[in-house]
Amino acid sequence: MWEFETDPEYQADLDWADRFVRDEVEPLRYVLPHALDRDERWHALVPPLQRQVKERGLWATHLGPDLGGPGHGQVKLALLNEILGRAPIAPMIFGCSAPDSGNAEILAHYGTDEHKAKYLQPLLDGEIFSCFSMTEPQGGSDPKEFTCSAVLDGDEWVINGEKWFSSNARYASFLIVMVVTEPDAAPYQRQSMIIVPSDTPGINILRNVGHSFGGAPGQGTHAYIRYENVRVPKENMLGGRGNAFVVAQTRLGGGRIHHAMRTVGMAQRALDLMLERAVSRRTQGELLSKKQLVQEMIADSWLDLEQFRLLVLRTAWRIDRYQDYKRVRGDISGVKAAMPGVLHRIASRALQVHGSLGITEEMPFMDMISNAYHLGLADGPTEVHKVTLARTLLSGATPAPGLFPTMHIPAEREAALAKYADVLARTGNG
Ligand SMILES: Cc1cc2nc3c(=O)[nH]c(=O)nc-3n(C[C@H](O)[C@H](O)[C@H](O)COP(=O)(O)OP(=O)(O)OC[C@H]3O[C@@H](n4cnc5c(N)ncnc54)[C@H](O)[C@@H]3O)c2cc1C
Repeated sequence: MWEFETDPEYQADLDWADRFVRDEVEPLRYVLPHALDRDERWHALVPPLQRQVKERGLWATHLGPDLGGPGHGQVKLALLNEILGRAPIAPMIFGCSAPDSGNAEILAHYGTDEHKAKYLQPLLDGEIFSCFSMTEPQGGSDPKEFTCSAVLDGDEWVINGEKWFSSNARYASFLIVMVVTEPDAAPYQRQSMIIVPSDTPGINILRNVGHSFGGAPGQGTHAYIRYENVRVPKENMLGGRGNAFVVAQTRLGGGRIHHAMRTVGMAQRALDLMLERAVSRRTQGELLSKKQLVQEMIADSWLDLEQFRLLVLRTAWRIDRYQDYKRVRGDISGVKAAMPGVLHRIASRALQVHGSLGITEEMPFMDMISNAYHLGLADGPTEVHKVTLARTLLSGATPAPGLFPTMHIPAEREAALAKYADVLARTGNG
């Protein structure tokens, strides 16, 4: 069955979320310096909103009842995330922000009962934040280049090495760190995942890197970390020795599509603003909306957005249907590869239609464009995902049976003439 409608009960929840994000969440960007900085003002403003979300039953909706969520699945989360994409802080207020949602998935799959009580539960309750520490300064796209290591010493792992762009490390209560533990094994079995509590001695944040747009040096949130003789209990390993790649896929699959769902919301916002501007601003005695080149920008943006939205929803549906990230890996990579371009193109057109105002810090377009670049790198660059998608497609392809391709017209014509030979003989050549 094919459906393009939301059931009325969930639509009422979405309408509530839409109002709530507009009235209560979006204004927070002007009063909270950073979404995760739990200062006095944060405590006064954020937990009461999180309580309202929980009361409405929209907290961590992607999680099943076993983990305290309603188990709405990815399609419903996609629709909700379109709304949350309008405000960077909204996912945290709805209990589905990265990297916490992915780290929670890892802990739910691979954590012991003790890990679940100590790290997973407070994470799910929104009481703590976490960090995923994988990329290294000398190599990000290819994890086989990583060298940060952990060596077993009695009952403890001793970690040494550097990690780069560990987002939110400064606010995290624990980090999940990818480390080489089996240096002599095959490349994909060399590394493991380990939980490192943030207060462990030897975690040295060399600097917090920010983005080029906005923010003073040192105010960034992507940590360059040197782990120096960091000791953690050997039980802190997740998923067994040498299984880091398997564990990483558990978290990155969901995370990538969650970003895409929110990107739909962000791009929709840019398109809405473009439409408003087109019917507000006049030039040469008429509205911008009368100019055909502006109309083309609007039409192209809608086409970009709707194709992408359908791809995201279809991929979410396939995740819910198969419950197997491996089976939808190609789809997720496709979404991930398409996402930066869609946002970049739509935000750029919206900026252009706003003229000089569009390029200023008084409008959100440059932030959106900057965000498009983040999306093209975080969780792996676009190029790597295109390769994954292409390989998935190629794995289902079979070579042509002969010298010429299957749909070679002379061969098809010959087969058709043979198939209908008696009819052709009866009806003549005409
Ligand atoms: C906003 C943001 C948040 C992030 N958060 C985290 C985090 O929390 N934790 C974490 O561990 N990491 C994080 N990262 C890091 C991210 O995972 C890496 O940036 C990414 O994996 C790319 O690695 P790199 O930056 O070292 O680029 P490189 O590996 O140096 O790649 C540079 C470029 O080379 C090209 N390239 C690479 N591989 C291929 C290929 N196979 N084929 C063709 N071209 C290729 C691409 O153009 C790529 O952009 C974050 C990044 C960003 C931007």
